[in-house]
Amino acid sequence: MLKYLIIKLCDTAPSFCHYYNPNNVKNLMTFETLKESILFGMKENLNIQFLYPDYELPTEYKEEIDKVDHTDIVSFWNKDKELLEKAEIVVIDSWHDVTKHLNGVQSYILRTSKDDFFKNYKVLMEVLLIVQRINIVFTDISECNKEDLDKYKNILEEISDFIAKEYISAKTPQTNILTDRFLLKSMNNCNAGDEVITVAPDGKFYVCPAFYLYEEKDEGNLRDGLKVRNSQLYKLSHAPICRQCDAYQCKRCVWLNKQMTLEVNTPSREQCVIAHLERNQTRKLLQQIRVHGIFMPEIEIPEINYLDPFDKIVR
Ligand code: SF4
Repeated sequence: MLKYLIIKLCDTAPSFCHYYNPNNVKNLMTFETLKESILFGMKENLNIQFLYPDYELPTEYKEEIDKVDHTDIVSFWNKDKELLEKAEIVVIDSWHDVTKHLNGVQSYILRTSKDDFFKNYKVLMEVLLIVQRINIVFTDISECNKEDLDKYKNILEEISDFIAKEYISAKTPQTNILTDRFLLKSMNNCNAGDEVITVAPDGKFYVCPAFYLYEEKDEGNLRDGLKVRNSQLYKLSHAPICRQCDAYQCKRCVWLNKQMTLEVNTPSREQCVIAHLERNQTRKLLQQIRVHGIFMPEIEIPEINYLDPFDKIVR
């Protein structure tokens, strides 16, 4: 069931996720399309999320947007300071001076390459002292090799030790890579194409902004309606590997799936190993915290002997 509508206001609206946005030519959604998009979201009773370009929108756009309940997703470089201050989600794509720009109110998404993460991860521990929540999103998972995955495993251990100390002293920093799995008893994926759909500046629907940017076919439009082709393939129930998996914090990114396996419902080994390294380290983090007292007794993360659920299935 559809729950969220992402309204990508301009072609230049920065990425908040795994995909890279190569567009720098302004192509703002027409005011008419904006109104139709909002109307669609209201009629379908969807949670509306606006993805903003970095330049300030015309006043009439801002007024129209403020008429409806919504979530603002902006990049840290947004020139509209008022919007930047009130936005629920701020996307940062550089580690440079990152701690200087943060506050304890907003949620952050830090888009990073694996190598920048390996170089700068210690900064993340400073960041976790400031912010309530930060999501780490890798921009080059397809380039991960065994050495990278081993490095990631070791770094997760180090960050986990830090987070354990914070939890033991009653602080609760949150990050998707280590604490989300604490709270989950079932899959909490991106669900693009199933629970989430994107309307782009051309007034057409796409599985997510990445599908719009990479010339994927549309899934209908505001005039003729939403028609997701092969919609069952975006559902967890039709993802044979993922539906047997308990790395509940994984995004199950259908765009990365398609990029790396040519199938929207089939993840690559790299995606699965990364999600299972995170899942296994969260299991250890729970144990570290529980040495000091009762902590989330209702959550149990069983020990497993695989990092890729595909190995479990083919065994
Ligand atoms: S499918 Fe979801 S996780 Fe993947 S790039 Fe799109 S929004 Fe991000």
